[in-house]
Amino acid sequence: MTALSRKLSAPLAMIALASVGLLLSVMIILAGQIDQEAQQHDRDLVERGLVATIRDVEHAVAPQVIWDEAVDHLDQPFDVAWARDNITNYLAQQTGFDQVFVLDGQDRMRLAEAKEGRLTQAEAERRVAKLAPLVAKLRVSEHGLKPRDGRERRRALIAAPAQVSAFAKIEDEIYLVTASLVRSETQTAPVRRTPEAIVITAMKMEGAFVDAFADRFLLAGTHLHRALDTLDDETGYTHLPLLDANGAVVATLDWNPPHPGQRLLRKTIGPVMAVVCALALATILLARRGRMIAEGLIASEARSKHLALHDGLTGLANRLLFEERLRQAIEGLERKARPMAVLAIDLDRFKAVNDTHGHAAGDELIRKVGERLASVCRGGETVARLGGDEFGVVAADIDPNGAAILAERLLNALCGPMEMSFGVHFVSGSVGVVLVSPDQAHIGAAEAARRADVALYRAKSEGRGRYCFFEDAMDAALKARRALEEDLRAALRDGAVRLDYQPQVDAGDRVIGVEALARWSHPTRGEIPPDAFIPLAEDCGLSQEMGRYVLRRALRDSLRWRGLQVGINVSARQMKRAGFIDELAELIRETGANPRQLALEITESALLGDGEGAHDTVDSLRQMGFSLVLDDFGVGCASLSYIRRYPIDRIKIDRSFVAPLGQDADSEAVVAAIVRLAKALSLSVMAKGVETAAQREILKAIGCAQAQGFLFSPPVAAETIDALLAQGGRLHPPAQPDAA
Ligand code: C2E
Ligand code: CA
Repeated sequence: MTALSRKLSAPLAMIALASVGLLLSVMIILAGQIDQEAQQHDRDLVERGLVATIRDVEHAVAPQVIWDEAVDHLDQPFDVAWARDNITNYLAQQTGFDQVFVLDGQDRMRLAEAKEGRLTQAEAERRVAKLAPLVAKLRVSEHGLKPRDGRERRRALIAAPAQVSAFAKIEDEIYLVTASLVRSETQTAPVRRTPEAIVITAMKMEGAFVDAFADRFLLAGTHLHRALDTLDDETGYTHLPLLDANGAVVATLDWNPPHPGQRLLRKTIGPVMAVVCALALATILLARRGRMIAEGLIASEARSKHLALHDGLTGLANRLLFEERLRQAIEGLERKARPMAVLAIDLDRFKAVNDTHGHAAGDELIRKVGERLASVCRGGETVARLGGDEFGVVAADIDPNGAAILAERLLNALCGPMEMSFGVHFVSGSVGVVLVSPDQAHIGAAEAARRADVALYRAKSEGRGRYCFFEDAMDAALKARRALEEDLRAALRDGAVRLDYQPQVDAGDRVIGVEALARWSHPTRGEIPPDAFIPLAEDCGLSQEMGRYVLRRALRDSLRWRGLQVGINVSARQMKRAGFIDELAELIRETGANPRQLALEITESALLGDGEGAHDTVDSLRQMGFSLVLDDFGVGCASLSYIRRYPIDRIKIDRSFVAPLGQDADSEAVVAAIVRLAKALSLSVMAKGVETAAQREILKAIGCAQAQGFLFSPPVAAETIDALLAQGGRLHPPAQPDAA
């Protein structure tokens, strides 16, 4: 679990818990509300039902009290027998009242009947006395009875009963008692101003009455509750108070109220919680998945950010990050007292490793160099790979001495043997350093980097394996060189580079061949020697163009001199380039030149360090018909081994051996040895740089008759060669004092 998931999980779980809690509370509150509403509704219903039941009871009494005959019999004199037959017995037995009392107009208890048994006069009077408030209420309403007017008379023929009902406790039993005024049944009868008799009926609540009531209103657990002080103990019941005539509670009618809300809650809580849990689970899964995706995105963003700013091979900062750090360092300069430095680092001859051992070896070398450079840099220094074999370091806050020490450290890290998978390799590099002081901050990052490159260039041209600090003068030199490169590009494009030819002679001074030598007359700088402009072309990426230019011209010119061999210089880089053979074949086709007339002059370095590649090229050239000449023989240390290994046709003895001839006996011995060796290997041999007749004579004596040099002719224009051939093709070196 990552820190992020931990950070997110707790709030998520809290939210889920809180939501479930909220939902539960809402459901419980809603269920409570539903229950309350249902109970209120139930209570209203029961209340109205009780009133209706009381009305029913009153109606049951009404026929016996709204009766003219009763008015007559119960008034003076009170007819007890009649009253027993028609009122008390009837109401107790026919209608089912538990107790019936008849009072006369003066509220005296005149007759009593009880289902429980006969009541004594005193007992009956005691009971009636308890009901005095009820009787009093009825008397009050009797007083309010008005004579009926015409309108009333028309509406109802039967008089309305005057009755008052209440609940009462009699002998520990709860009764519904109704006091009814005995009235004339006739609507038209006048209201008498003397009090009428009263019939009191009592219906026992407990038992049949309550049961019938409960059945009628579908109440559960219905019962009377008499011990009012224990009401609060009976939770879960609804209590409807039963009031006596004074409004005091005599008991309560209790029942089990319905709980539709709780029933609903019980029925729905399971499914709802299941759905909620499923939703919560789904939410958590979704959230987790979302989190995983988010984490993946964050990680991949970090990865791509790292990739975007770092070099894949070495893991060092890349050019982008290098430039950013450089910019930051330059911008921060103004706040600093000390300068900053930019160092440009380049491996020497890295390309040779790539060419010789393959790209994997090249990568391995770059990786190791990267590690070494990083190991000598400190916290505040950024090491970057800028591409290929180029590295750079930005060191903020450093003084000149510190920059020199850093350059030294980098060089030491670079140079020396390196354990590689293909064997031990000796690496070296060059370092260019520029110091930017706080008052130079305005030059900007790009210019600082360029200056480091200029210094690096100087370090390389001064012999590699060293470091150089940037100086303004270097800039001028570099600018001049860049200009020269541009001029050379233009010269090649415009055909301003020409070929001169230097004749080569045999023992009889007869011209047997010519060597093509490139010439460039610069419009302002005059003649620039090929020793200078050919490396320049190779440095600025013009080597292929240059090589093809010379080959094409020499091949064309060779057609002018059918009998002559034309020597063409081929640089090592030119010969090692893939496609060289194809290019040559193409030029042969294009110009119609004869390879047998052409000698390619190569140096040791063209055969150096390329294993099979060089062999294949040399073989191909031989098969195509070219002669191969090993130039500058004796200068390199491996010349001997090459002439044995490669199918060379001729060697050219270097001028450095020829020049001392006649003055230095050793050199004569060396040249003699070379000549013998060549002959032993059946190679032809030619001396170059022959300037004097003495040299010529010695060479001839040694056995090297073929020669080339100012003694015969300097390199000349092709037309001059034409003229020379036209005159018989023989060169007569001028007689010289030392020739004699
Ligand atoms: P190289 O192949 O050794 O060419 C002979 C050089 O010696 C020429 O110099 C020539 O002018 C000079 N030379 C000839 N005879 C004498 C002499 O008696 N005394 C002295 N001191 N010098 C003599 P150049 O033309 O300046 O060429 C220099 C080098 O430039 C050549 O050396 C050759 O390596 C290279 N080069 C010239 N042209 C081409 C070219 O077209 N392609 C390539 N790849 N290299 C070329
Ligand atoms: Ca040559």
